[in-house]
Amino acid sequence: MEVCKDIASLDEHLKLYENIRNQIGLVPTMGALHAGHISLVKKALAENDIVIVSIFVNPTQFNNPNDLSRYPRTLERDIIQLNHLNDDIIVFAPSVKEMYPDGAISEEYNFKGVASIMEEKFRPGHFNGVATVVKRLFEIVNPKRAYFGEKDYQQLFIIKKLVKKEKLPIKIIGCPIVREHNGLAMSSRNERLSDNTRYKASFIYNILLKIKERFLVEKSGDIKHWVQNQFKNQELFKLEYIEIVDTNTLKRIRIKDPEKKYRAFIAVYAEGIRLIDNIALN
Ligand code: AMP
Repeated sequence: MEVCKDIASLDEHLKLYENIRNQIGLVPTMGALHAGHISLVKKALAENDIVIVSIFVNPTQFNNPNDLSRYPRTLERDIIQLNHLNDDIIVFAPSVKEMYPDGAISEEYNFKGVASIMEEKFRPGHFNGVATVVKRLFEIVNPKRAYFGEKDYQQLFIIKKLVKKEKLPIKIIGCPIVREHNGLAMSSRNERLSDNTRYKASFIYNILLKIKERFLVEKSGDIKHWVQNQFKNQELFKLEYIEIVDTNTLKRIRIKDPEKKYRAFIAVYAEGIRLIDNIALN
């Protein structure tokens, strides 16, 4: 396994694979790797000759400087984890200067409405930062396939839009959410939770499971109201948003259409740490 910290050395290594350059898989991450990330890497290894795992805490997608400075950085440990997996991996761990030689500034994208609810509403500019760094990674790596988790479903949706809009010859592959034993969606941010809160955070997944049950018989407005009340009845978790949206458009559900697929999305604060999750409802 190789570790490249700049584009020049990544290019050098990729030259060795020139004849199979068509078979490169890319897994973009911000590091502090956990089983969720590893599931993406394993899928990429199964479907490509070589897999580039990028590890880069992208400053342009953070709208809270505290969140950026406290984001876990565990490169040594990440490299050891990947090294155990397979030799056909190149870790690309660039500096901010390498990724943004002219300064860490986002490009402006217009994702036509899909970005104005949920994550983009509560983290304005977030997806401009995500799209900017992902497009830059695509240019550097030139992958055939790129892997993203459904944990960040709105991000996956926006990346698919980006690829379509820019007519990039890259297949975007969504991967299912990997959860801790208690159902909490795995996240690098979970490491910052106290043991007690991390254990009790099964509350979030249990709410999603109940939403799914209720969705069979109840209106979305009533379900959202019920969720808000569940959060009022406890102190540990603070609800930021709950949304039920059409999976194909990420627009809020109006009248339930049996022909359509829906998904519920939730964002919660615990001990000042922001956790997101989502579930398919039908
Ligand atoms: P991050 O390092 O948080 O930016 O995540 C890198 C990639 O891993 C993104 O495509 C995420 O959606 C994906 N990912 C993060 N957590 C999980 C999880 N629990 N299950 C599946 N994919 C995940």
